[in-house]
Amino acid sequence: MSQILSTAAGVEPIALGSAKARRSRQGVVSWGSHRVTVGGDAPVRVQSMTNTDTADAIGTAIQVKELAQAGSELVRITVNNDEAARAVPHIREQLDRMGIAVPLIGDFHYNGHRLLTDHPACAEALSKYRINPGNVGRGDKGDRQFGQMVEIAARLGKAIRIGVNWGSLDQDLLARMMDENARRRQPWDARQVMYEALITSALESSAKAEQIGLDGNQITLSCKVSNVQDLVAVYQALAQRCDNVLHLGLTEAGMGTKGAVASAAALSVLLQQGIGDTIRVSLTPQPGEARTQEVVVAMEILQALGLRAFVPSVTACPGCGRTTSTTFQELAKQIDDYLRHSMPLWRERYPGVEGLKVAVMGCIVNGPGESKHADLGISLPGTGEAPSAPVYIDGEKAMTLRGDSIASDFQQIVENYIEKRFGAAG
Ligand code: SF4
Repeated sequence: MSQILSTAAGVEPIALGSAKARRSRQGVVSWGSHRVTVGGDAPVRVQSMTNTDTADAIGTAIQVKELAQAGSELVRITVNNDEAARAVPHIREQLDRMGIAVPLIGDFHYNGHRLLTDHPACAEALSKYRINPGNVGRGDKGDRQFGQMVEIAARLGKAIRIGVNWGSLDQDLLARMMDENARRRQPWDARQVMYEALITSALESSAKAEQIGLDGNQITLSCKVSNVQDLVAVYQALAQRCDNVLHLGLTEAGMGTKGAVASAAALSVLLQQGIGDTIRVSLTPQPGEARTQEVVVAMEILQALGLRAFVPSVTACPGCGRTTSTTFQELAKQIDDYLRHSMPLWRERYPGVEGLKVAVMGCIVNGPGESKHADLGISLPGTGEAPSAPVYIDGEKAMTLRGDSIASDFQQIVENYIEKRFGAAG
């Protein structure tokens, strides 16, 4: 038999749930007068990456625009050859013409030193360079090539991300750490050596970049791996050993639900501990799926944790044997789609609307209660209940809807509420 160990009378109140804060340095990634602060007390930023051929300037500009309009505050593009580097200033130009100020991050591997040197317009049009220390070359040559990229960034006032990835770890460093491990009286597990190599690569590269003359506030670090527990372990250690801005992401998270869930699991653990200043969800798009899905998932993670609000939230019950019709599912989806699609316009017109809470519930059991907790709520009739749907506004029952037009009537109520509360006259 279970036993009650203590009662409310004898215990302290439970601490309010909230994410911890890790105070990192604060940097800025900017394009023109558009400045995106990262780290410090700035909100956790959403980042994404295109999957177009960068040499296709128009196609890439269109995708960057879509990602930015979906909510991505920084967009990374591959810069892998001369054609891509030549296209970068044109992509920037197209975006400026469309009024899209989102800063572009160039993703460089192997030949970044040469591309940035040979294409000064590309170096100028980018706001930040991603440098992978495992892919800059080996030995002295690697040091020189890394230095070349950092010098360009320092001279042009650009930010950099030192992006270490376990799939392309600095092989010299890994060999050095393996040797050191072999000499230990009690050698570490191979995974622990890998963790240490990832972190050391990021920290040593960051120190080198600062020695070359780059401001430490402008250096973001990342150590990406594709396993949730590895990512959590690596970032927890990394966060203790530096105060740099940290970019978080589970690399190669995968497709669909698996990718979204794995990313949410890993990122949530770390964000709850205050670790992570920018995030990316690396989803493999399903055939026909929009690239913007990775932005939606990243925003959902931050919103679910209460770290940011991007779109009004819809609380909907899962439905059960008490509601055999699909009316409430359809209404929940309709309201969710309506709110989400209206956001690009509403962001300007209705400041604060992203904090709105709407409840769409399936029956009387939790319907009225959950509706009262929301700004606006509707409790649809479950099986056997009278065919009426009470609507709650600001916690009070305001009216009851009946008939075939419940969905459109409720949508109109939501619209009127938003105009009244968040519009210019509100
Ligand atoms: S609110 Fe009603 S319909 Fe929805 S899950 Fe609960 S009992 Fe089922």
